[in-house]
Amino acid sequence: MTHPPPLGMLAEVTHRCPLACPYCSNPVQLDRRSDELDTAAWLGVFEQAAALGVLQLHLSGGEPAARPDIVELTRGAAAAGLYTNLITSGIGLSAARLEALAGAGLDHVQLSWQDTDSANADEIAGFAGAYARKQETARAVIALGLPLTINVVVHRLNIGRVAEMAAAAHRAGARRIEIAHAQYYGWGLVNRAALLPTLDQVEAAHAAVARVRQELQPAILVDYVAPDHFSRWPKPCMNGWGRQSLNVTPRGKVLPCHAAETIPGLVFWNVREHPLREIWEASPAFTAFRGEAWMKEPCRSCPRKEIDFGGCRCQAFAWTGDAADADPACQHSPHHAALRAAVAAPRTDGLRYRRFSGAPAGPGG
Ligand code: SF4
Ligand code: SF4
Repeated sequence: MTHPPPLGMLAEVTHRCPLACPYCSNPVQLDRRSDELDTAAWLGVFEQAAALGVLQLHLSGGEPAARPDIVELTRGAAAAGLYTNLITSGIGLSAARLEALAGAGLDHVQLSWQDTDSANADEIAGFAGAYARKQETARAVIALGLPLTINVVVHRLNIGRVAEMAAAAHRAGARRIEIAHAQYYGWGLVNRAALLPTLDQVEAAHAAVARVRQELQPAILVDYVAPDHFSRWPKPCMNGWGRQSLNVTPRGKVLPCHAAETIPGLVFWNVREHPLREIWEASPAFTAFRGEAWMKEPCRSCPRKEIDFGGCRCQAFAWTGDAADADPACQHSPHHAALRAAVAAPRTDGLRYRRFSGAPAGPGG
């Protein structure tokens, strides 16, 4: 049976990154350079993606610029007809390299900021000088005429400055800022006690976002992703499992979402062994939670299942041990109270920085 094609594909071309953000969405077990797909393999994946119907390619990582062939990869993706978006920390992107990327057909840049307080930004990134390098990258992107989005992950250590960050993104020339609360799987879960804000902080952030939207839109679009731990309803995670997008990991595994490997027992097919179309339509991981047949109560008989698809499978597994349960962010979930209780749990200050396993914890740079 065929399935409507995905709109977007996230290509995690490497897990290598000069930064060490303690909320990084990469898995705790990172893929090593020696495991990564080579240039020809990635170019083949991009051609298959375009043939499958993918419109937007997000070149991500890790830091995609850590790949020496990032210009070649971008050129190949553009030649395949894909809209190309580079999701970058901004480190390792000189003005000359950005110019080469623009010449290769790059359509859009998403640049991450950790904070507008430079010392705190460098502390969160675990990299001295990161803040200043990111500002240089933003200027170079704007000078090339490329559209720029600023990405900010919000947590207890920067949540008081969401309004400043939106204003700074506007001054920098960005057309959009995406302010998203940290997600608590993988590295975020490891660091939850240090990163989870308080209810007062979250309410102040909601108000600050409403205020800057009034002040700054439409000159800059302010997108805001609220935190699950403080919600009554789950988000339509990935707009439904296996409905609109797919992720390819550095070693070629294809996932329905970036955190799907946290669910044990799912079998992920690899582009080294299967065509992308076959993976999308028939692989065990993609069919596991597609549609509604897998749903249990309370989702099965709930009218909101067509709005939120039961929420996030990874969050359901993390809290209930069963990925087919309702997302505990939902007030109908019997596990909702436990999620809310985490909001009241004591906070700690210690961060464990994102590192390849075996490397020491603590800030790098
Ligand atoms: S979140 Fe931070 S550590 Fe993770 S890939 Fe992005 S910049 Fe690198
Ligand atoms: S019961 Fe399930 S479908 Fe209904 S709102 Fe909650 S998570 Fe969504």
